[in-house]
Amino acid sequence: MAMPLCDDTLLCNFPKCRSKLSGFAWVTACSHVFCDQHGSGEFSRSPAICPACSSALSGKLDIVRTELSPSEEYKAMVLAGLRPDIVLDISARALAFWSYQVHQERMYQEYSLSRADTQLKQMEKMLTQQNQSRELELNAMRGEIASLKKVMEEYKRKYSDVSEKLMERNRQYQKLQGLYDSLRLRNMVVGVGERDALPQHVHPDFHTVLARHATPQRSPPFLSLGPDGGSRFFSCLEADAPKMFFQFNSPDASRAFVSKH
Ligand SMILES: [Zn+2]
Ligand SMILES: [Zn+2]
Repeated sequence: MAMPLCDDTLLCNFPKCRSKLSGFAWVTACSHVFCDQHGSGEFSRSPAICPACSSALSGKLDIVRTELSPSEEYKAMVLAGLRPDIVLDISARALAFWSYQVHQERMYQEYSLSRADTQLKQMEKMLTQQNQSRELELNAMRGEIASLKKVMEEYKRKYSDVSEKLMERNRQYQKLQGLYDSLRLRNMVVGVGERDALPQHVHPDFHTVLARHATPQRSPPFLSLGPDGGSRFFSCLEADAPKMFFQFNSPDASRAFVSKH
């Protein structure tokens, strides 16, 4: 029962046909069988050649068209009158034909199976190789990403260093700008006020100077730029923000503070 398909039905032996036989079939002396379509097509010409094994079929009984489900009347009469050994001989030959067909079909199935198995193994191998190469590519990309991340971290670090330095420079710049403004203001004030108290230079650290010179008895006046910025109008506003006040480090610091009042 290995091939259930072939146990009750034979298949047409015509190449690539393999249709189940029913109704009438064409059987040959070379033990091949064909469907009615292929048998009537192939065996109508002369000389007849078996499409399955290329045997020449020239004998009168080399090709027989057989009814596969014969009538009761036919079955009752076809072997009637023959000796038992002849009946058995005929039956044995018919059974041999059948078992040959089943065997051929089984060989064909095994061949197809092994071919499919080979193809499957080849595809599996190919897929495994593809997977491996993908894995390699993936690992390479992961490595690339990791190194790019490192580079990015490095750049971030450098960026924060640089921006910190920039902020520091800005602070220094603003401090210098403040000192510069103070100096300019002082020169303008000198231009309109006392001319004999020119400062030698401005101390770089204003706060230190302030701490040293500021006295509680006489707090230094605060000079401030008015809303009109660099104009010649200055106001001495004691209450103004301390960022604008300054002090000159001059030989006579007590006389260095000048206002227009
Ligand atoms: Zn056929
Ligand atoms: Zn044949």
